Amino acid sequence: MNTHIIHGSDIPATLVSDTAKRLASEPGILKFTFHTMDDRHLERKVEIPLQDLFDAGRRFREAKRIPKEDFVITLTEPANAQNYYASLNPADTRTGFVHAGEWKEYIECEPELPIAFTIVNLLVAYHTCPTFEQMNHFLHHRPIGCANDLCNNKREVIFKLRTGDICARCVEAMQRSGWSDLGIDHAMRIMSTLSTDMRFNRYFKPVMEPSGIHVDMDEATLILPDYDLLNIPLQPLDLAFYVFYLRYTGEDGLYQIAFEQDWAHKALFEIYRKLRPLSENDRELMISVRTFSNLQVREQSRSRIKRNFISVLGPRLAKPYLIEGARGKPTRTGIPISKVKVVNFAYWANLPDRP
Ligand SMILES: [Zn+2]
Repeated sequence: MNTHIIHGSDIPATLVSDTAKRLASEPGILKFTFHTMDDRHLERKVEIPLQDLFDAGRRFREAKRIPKEDFVITLTEPANAQNYYASLNPADTRTGFVHAGEWKEYIECEPELPIAFTIVNLLVAYHTCPTFEQMNHFLHHRPIGCANDLCNNKREVIFKLRTGDICARCVEAMQRSGWSDLGIDHAMRIMSTLSTDMRFNRYFKPVMEPSGIHVDMDEATLILPDYDLLNIPLQPLDLAFYVFYLRYTGEDGLYQIAFEQDWAHKALFEIYRKLRPLSENDRELMISVRTFSNLQVREQSRSRIKRNFISVLGPRLAKPYLIEGARGKPTRTGIPISKVKVVNFAYWANLPDRP
């Protein structure tokens, strides 16, 4: 099932892409696509009548021959005459709008979080009660922290955003109305993730810089000195790979090609040899480090490193330490070399430079 989100050019492109990213944060069957509309009704600088918002959705639906079961939601920057933050069209409850502006005045978080939440919320409301009359009768007039709490303004939405929940009675109603478990589960996961992110962003802002990294090559250990000397356990080959990244990531990251070059094999070899002092066979050590020419081997090492950092630090604080980068793009860690201390490794200063 597809949800089409239409908006005028007055909605900043970054807000559109950030909202799209949030809606795609959980895998599942609900699809959301954004369309920029050249519709003068959407870009009026004064309050827009609700009917104009619904009409924009209807015109889009007709012009693009959108299937009846798809949703069309209009996103607007200017407020509407009733100052509603969102609504479905009483005459066609698969069409609605969400007001994108002014969230910052009510909620201390990125505006795309409540916007994405409200978009999914409209789908949930529809699937709980397909008609406006039923909604008015069934949805919660007295807020209980369910997505189906009827809220009149953005201030009241904070409560349901904080819970990110749908109550048992509403879930049952969605199942009775025939929404598939796949759809319900996906909607609930998206809302729950958005809610968690909102609470974290609002209440938890790290006051410390990420800890530096201390690698003792004799002990083959990686310690975070500013985080209570936490130890990140890594196997020697993964540690060699990670130390290589710390040394060579630089500002622009490392391309695939680097791992096929002699200087990289030489550097990895020296690092790994130091971490495996009992292994005397240089030929075997070299064979091991050359396997990093293979993308799959690097991906496996990268995900083991990621798992170990997250198991110690949790996903939020681990983030700067992870080796990141999209497939085919350069990969890098977020820790600059100035925060890295490598001890008991005389060869560190002699490692080859990146060409
Ligand atoms: Zn409910």
